[in-house]
Amino acid sequence: MEKKISKRIMLVHENEDYKIYRAACDCISHECDMTIELEICPPTNFLILSLDKKLKWSSQWSYDYERPIYSWFVDKWKRITVALKILFTGYIEVEDSFLMKDNDHIDAFIDAIRNGQQLLNERVAKKNVSAESGVQSDS
Ligand SMILES: [Zn+2]
Repeated sequence: MEKKISKRIMLVHENEDYKIYRAACDCISHECDMTIELEICPPTNFLILSLDKKLKWSSQWSYDYERPIYSWFVDKWKRITVALKILFTGYIEVEDSFLMKDNDHIDAFIDAIRNGQQLLNERVAKKNVSAESGVQSDS
């Protein structure tokens, strides 16, 4: 089902109302992939673009291997403070990067969004014409 647009951008799924792409991050971790989803949302027929990616937080990211005992306590302290933050506020803030390190990757990313956008806008226009003329559209 996957159709490659480039070696790092693949069309994963599509139907008449949405297109879903998977974009590979240039850090090479598959856990870092991004999902690009273009969707026509009824009943307004707005075109919505969403970029989804797993976000992670780790207490061990700043682990200092030269000071393992100190790092063990820092790790536990970070876990406790984050747990308290979630307990008292209900959320934590995290961010993560998605890397594109050359023009081909950036162009393929833009092309995937543009192609999906054009195709779905054509379908929206067709649906609007059908709705105005009172004709039931199958596409
Ligand atoms: Zn990555």
